[in-house]
Amino acid sequence: MIVILKPHSSEQQIRDVIEEVAKLGYTPHPIRGALQTVVAAIGDERTHLTLESLDALPQVERVLRVQKRYKMVSRESSETDTIIDVNGIRIGGENFAVMAGPCSVESEEQLLVTARAVRKRGATILRGGAYKPRTSPYEFQGLGKEGLRILDLARRETGLKIITEVLSERDVEHVANTADILQIGARNAQNFQLLVECAKSRKPVLLKRGMSQRIEEWLLAAEYLLVNGNPHVMLCERGIRTFETYTRNTLDLAAVAIAKKESHLPVIVDPSQGCGRADLVKVLCRGAVAMGADGLLIEVHPNPAEALSDGQQQIDFSAFGDLIAELSPFLKATGRILA
Ligand code: PEP
Ligand code: MN
Repeated sequence: MIVILKPHSSEQQIRDVIEEVAKLGYTPHPIRGALQTVVAAIGDERTHLTLESLDALPQVERVLRVQKRYKMVSRESSETDTIIDVNGIRIGGENFAVMAGPCSVESEEQLLVTARAVRKRGATILRGGAYKPRTSPYEFQGLGKEGLRILDLARRETGLKIITEVLSERDVEHVANTADILQIGARNAQNFQLLVECAKSRKPVLLKRGMSQRIEEWLLAAEYLLVNGNPHVMLCERGIRTFETYTRNTLDLAAVAIAKKESHLPVIVDPSQGCGRADLVKVLCRGAVAMGADGLLIEVHPNPAEALSDGQQQIDFSAFGDLIAELSPFLKATGRILA
C-alpha cells in the first residue's frame, strides 16, 4: 500500500506514520519529495492488517491499495484454466458445457420429458430448481424435497448430471446428496455463511453474480469458497439490474471477458435470467461463446406458457435444438468442444 502524507507534515508526523506502518506488519519505505512525503508499505495486503485505517490520521491525505483483494481465484495463482470435473463431465479449458432444463421442477412428467429432450439435443447437465427464491411469498416456492427426488430420478434415467439451487445453509447437506453441482443464486451471492457451508461440502459450485454485485465482490465471494477448501467453483454471469426496462436484467457480457482475465475459474453464462426474454436467448448464447464463456445455463420448458415460474424467458425444445445446432460455428471459432 502507499500512504500519501499531506504537504508540510512535520518530521514527527512522518515518523508517526512510519511507526504505525511497521506496527501493522509492513516494512515502511519513506520517499521524501520536495513538498510531500509518501510511505510505501511493503507486505501482503491480503493477509496483513489493513492500513486503510491510517486515513484517520490528520497528516494522512490518502492510502492507496496496490494489490488485488482476491488471491486464490486470481489468474496469478494459477496460470492454466481450472477444469471442473462434474462426475466425469469436464468444464473449462476447451470443454464447453451446456446445462439446460426448467426454471423449476414442477412434476415428474415435466422434468423427465425435458431431461430426455435436452439430452437428445446436446445438454450434459440438467438444471431445475427444487427450492425457488421467489420475490413474492404467494408465488410457487418449488417442490423442495419432492423436487430433489424427481431430479434424482431424472439423473438415473438419463445419465445427465444435476445442477440445482441451494437456498439456505440448513439445506446444503441434503441438496448435496442429489446435486452434482450446487447452484448459489443471485440473491445469495454474498451470503457468506452459505458460501462457507457449500465450501465444506466439497461439491462443485456454480456461483451466480448478485444482481447489484461488482465484479470484484463476485470474485471475493468465490474466494470464500476456495479459501474454505473448495476449489471446484464456476462463476456465472446472469445479468445485473440497471435502468433498462426492455430486458429483465442487463446481461453483462463484458464481465465474462473480465472474469476470464482476472480469474482461472470457468465462467458460465445464464442468458435466461440475463434478459428475461425467450426471443433473445439464442443471440445472447452466441455472444457468451464469443466473449469466452465456458458454458451456458439455459431455461428450457416443454410448454413455457404453462410454466410455474419464469415462463416468459424459457424456451421450448425446438428452440433449444436450433440454438445448439447454430452454436457450433461459434464454438469452433473459439476453439471449444461440447463437453
Ligand atoms: C434460476 O436460475 O432460476 C434463478 C433463480 O437464478 P438467479 O439466482 O440468477 O436469479
Ligand atoms: Mn428462473
